[in-house]
Amino acid sequence: MEPTTTADVIAVLREHGLRMTPQRRAIVAEIMRTQGHISPTALARKVQGEMPGVNASTIYRTLTLLEEVGVLAHAHLESGAEYHRTEEAGHVHLTCSNCGAEDDLSLEEANALIQLIEQHHGFQPDLTHFAIGGLCADCAKELASAAR
Ligand SMILES: [Zn+2]
Ligand SMILES: [Zn+2]
Ligand SMILES: [Zn+2]
Repeated sequence: MEPTTTADVIAVLREHGLRMTPQRRAIVAEIMRTQGHISPTALARKVQGEMPGVNASTIYRTLTLLEEVGVLAHAHLESGAEYHRTEEAGHVHLTCSNCGAEDDLSLEEANALIQLIEQHHGFQPDLTHFAIGGLCADCAKELASAAR
């Protein structure tokens, strides 16, 4: 079963022999409250705002541990690596290299591309891991009219 609550996740970390300090609990609670992408720096800022004195390296180590036990998965976006809850990680990231806007493509929408890549020597692509850079529709329009 997927660990879906803060208590579940704390239980999983305990099973892996991790001592649950009040700081680690606060970090896990904040992660479980966050919707969508979890940016390590934004998380550190929030946790340190609530609990001054929490070491940034403790926060990053906790993110790594949560990935090792399957609660989180990371993806590389224009702004750097970010984390998702594993059950929310199944999509392709589209990031605008002009304005930084982010959009998601579902794996169903990406299916034709995945099959095309698989036809090439049977390579199995993981399109969820790295973002696809490009221009969002607004920036593409703006740049096209500026070039005219
Ligand atoms: Zn995402
Ligand atoms: Zn990676
Ligand atoms: Zn844009």
